[in-house]
Amino acid sequence: MNVDPAELAKFSDIAHRWWDPASEFRPLHEINPLRLRWIADMAGGLAGKDVLDVGCGGGILAEAMAREAARVTGIDLSDKALGVARLHGLESGIEVDYQLIAAEAMADAAPGRYGVVTCMEMLEHVPDPASVVRACAVLAAPGATVVFATLSRNPKSYALAILGAEYVLGLLPRGTHDWSKFIRPSELARYARVAGLDLHAVTGMTYNPLTRVYGLEDDTSVNYLAAFRKASRARA
Ligand code: SAH
Repeated sequence: MNVDPAELAKFSDIAHRWWDPASEFRPLHEINPLRLRWIADMAGGLAGKDVLDVGCGGGILAEAMAREAARVTGIDLSDKALGVARLHGLESGIEVDYQLIAAEAMADAAPGRYGVVTCMEMLEHVPDPASVVRACAVLAAPGATVVFATLSRNPKSYALAILGAEYVLGLLPRGTHDWSKFIRPSELARYARVAGLDLHAVTGMTYNPLTRVYGLEDDTSVNYLAAFRKASRARA
């Protein structure tokens, strides 16, 4: 299976703090409104759509999309994270269908099922990210929007996402990320193109350590989101 058990363990060990906005998951809470709006814009709204969130973790984005009246399924391979997600859903009264299943297995089970597929901050934790991109493409219905968020790989992302975020600012626990597994936008676009997804838009996500404010900007050199469209018809 396309999974690194050590990566899963990192998230499982701290899963009980997933919804604590002062925990190591704080950055995910803080970026959530920004990414939610961008995803909704790219998808032309979420209401009434079948949405799949791949690598959903404790459900921060999945719940937010369900609040926008999407029918959301969240999948992950961390049993603990899914347990936290389900409990939080009970508390908040927001319905999300959480399933312990790999993206590739889901693709076999439900090809073409989803109008929107999201996969955020997950590709840089799996052994074969291209395989996850392929699975997301299979899961997408014709014309669907597929959105990925990950980290680019260059000297600046090493300085900011590893040294800055993990060692200087302490935004993330040390060892959260392995810089060598970061994915450049061009690489992600290539995985997607081969899988039958057309690049629609890319945006950078920046963090200002002085104001502690995240923003969507053109600079894709560290964190970025990329939206793709699945072709409406099979192409020759
Ligand atoms: N997408 C969520 C969580 C990001 S944290 C968000 O942005 O809010 C990364 C998540 O990826 C964790 O929940 C972890 O369990 C999951 N993950 C890591 N490797 C995985 C794999 N191979 N398959 C599925 N999920 C995986």
